[in-house]
Parts: sequence; C-alpha cells; structure tokens
Amino acid sequence: MSPLPLLPVTTAGSWPRPPELLRAQRLKQTGRLSAEAFERQADVAVLEVVRLQEKAGVDIVTDGEQRRDNFYSFVAEKLAGTQLMTLLEMLDIVEDKASFERVLQTLDVPAYSMRNPTCIGRIERRQPLAVDELRFLKRHTDKPVKIPLPGPYLLTRAMFVQEVTRQIYPSKEDLAEDVVRVLRDEIAELVAEGVDFIQLDEPVLTELVFTQGQTRTFMCAALATRNDPTEELEFAVALINRVLEGVAEVRTGLHICRGNWSQNESTLLRGSYHPLAAGKELGLGVVNPRTETIESPETISAAIEQALQLYPADRVFLNPDCGFGTFSNRPVNSSEIAYEKLRAIVDAAQAWRARIRLL
Ligand SMILES: [Zn+2]
Repeated sequence: MSPLPLLPVTTAGSWPRPPELLRAQRLKQTGRLSAEAFERQADVAVLEVVRLQEKAGVDIVTDGEQRRDNFYSFVAEKLAGTQLMTLLEMLDIVEDKASFERVLQTLDVPAYSMRNPTCIGRIERRQPLAVDELRFLKRHTDKPVKIPLPGPYLLTRAMFVQEVTRQIYPSKEDLAEDVVRVLRDEIAELVAEGVDFIQLDEPVLTELVFTQGQTRTFMCAALATRNDPTEELEFAVALINRVLEGVAEVRTGLHICRGNWSQNESTLLRGSYHPLAAGKELGLGVVNPRTETIESPETISAAIEQALQLYPADRVFLNPDCGFGTFSNRPVNSSEIAYEKLRAIVDAAQAWRARIRLL
C-alpha cells in the first residue's frame, strides 16, 4: 500500500460529467452509440477528472465515476439477471403505488432520470464491475487510487423489487447470498490489479439509523421491508463483513451520508451518525458538495479540530460529504466549484499537517 500523508484528502468518488459525455451516455442507452465508442469518450473525461484532482493536491484519486450512470445502477450493464428501470417504470410494477409515488414527490426525485438495477433473474458477473475503471486509472496516475463499489446491503435492497424478483429469489436474504459472492469476486480481482482503497457505498444505512427505517428513499422504495431496524442493521453489517472477510492487502472504507439527489437540503436525511461510528478510521466530510459557496479555511479547519478531539490524526481522512455527481443527470455542482472545494480541503489539510508537526 502506498504511503499517505497525515489527514489524506480524497473524494467520495463521483465528479460532474461534461455535457458531451452525458450526450454520449444517452446515445449509448438508446442504442445509437456503441459501448466501445462511449468508453473512448469516457476516457477523455476521466483524464480531465484525474488532472483536476492532482492539480488540487488530492492524495487518493478516483476516476470520478465518469463511466457510470449512477453509483449503483451501473452494475446492471455488468451483471446478468438485472434490468435497468427508471423510477417511472418501477412505479408501473410496484404493488404499493401510492406510497412509492409519495416517496418520489416528498424527496424531490425526478422519476424519469434515475434508474434502478432491478433483479429479474439469477445474478452473475458477465464482466467485472470496476476492474476496467481501475486499469485505466492506474495507467494515468501515480497517486494511490480508490474504487467505490455499491455495498452489499444497498445492492440487495435496491435490486430486490419483490414484484419481479421473488420468482427467482424468494427473499432478499437469498438474493444477498449472490450479491456477496459477486462483490467478493470483484474485490479479489481489484486487489490483484493493485487497487489501494476500496470504498463500499452504503447510504441506505443512514436512512436506517436516522429514521429507524420509517422513511424509505427511492433507492429502496420498492422493497416491502418491515423488519425491525436493529435487525436490518445487523443484516447489513453481516453482509459487509462477509464481503470484506480476508481482504487485508488494501484499505477499505464505508461511505454513508445524508443523500445527494437534490440541492434542496430539506429533502435530505437528518440525524446522528452515532449508531454507525464504530471506532475505526474516519473519513470526515468537510465541504458540502451541493452548495456554490466555497467553505473558508477557518470552517474546514474548525471541523478538523473537532474531529481531532475524538480521533488521532493518523485515523482521520478528509473528503466532501458526498460526490459532486452522484447521479449523472443531476450533478449537484459544477466541475469548477468541485475543484475549488477540493483545493480548500487540501489547503486546510496542509496547514494542519504543519501544525501537527510542531506539536
Ligand atoms: Zn453520499
């Protein structure tokens, strides 16, 4: 594993896609552009995202998820047994239409632009999920690299749309078995290819602990989960531990946040992360990816100071609260502002490193 400075700076993963890439994505989705041609266009976008992160002084770089439609839907292209459905298409098949519609309205989610990888058959890796992303990234940077993957709990909950999934997998627990296997196979390949950091995205965990499972976001609105939230959390933890069991050669992390589908902060989740703090390392969110104002060095520095009262400096990482382009069609910021925000984090990190060295 490559050595890192104190308070390493990284992103949550995604970066706003340039307009020409979004156009290419639409053409590919409607069969008017080959996958190969799309990938070549995405290569160009990734190179720019890498350049910007390096220029900003980020310590662990990602490819900005430029090849993905969103942070979990992209698996549909790679996994047999899945089908991408817009939320509007899901509304067609879910039995409880009224509550699904209510979720979409209250959460300010555009039903046409977000797509869900719905399980409609036995799932199997047709091709690796992110090994191609890793290879390209490693060819174009000397910095340590991070690959974000959707976590097993998120994938299971999103993919299990009971109206169509239960013919193949009677319960979400049954589906989870194959999700764990698929993710373990993927991680083994990423490790063999020299990944430095694997991040599992599990934003649904936040929903579980913030609202005790009472609110359901669009990511799992289709799932009739009536389980006790404590049991759900135990289920999630067990899945994550099984996915990461024996994975020792790389750094692993778990991303949780308040949601990132809207700039309307009032629609996002709110609550204490305390039940999820587990005495491990902390990736501290020090800038809001959804606002235009660049956080001042004082604001970021104060957040770091607070974290350092609870965690030793060698266990704190710095990052934005979430990605800048979680959903490709709905980036929460421009590339320029994303860059400035990263630059501000790097400035604060450098100041703190100097300060710590003097202590
Ligand atoms: Zn997030």
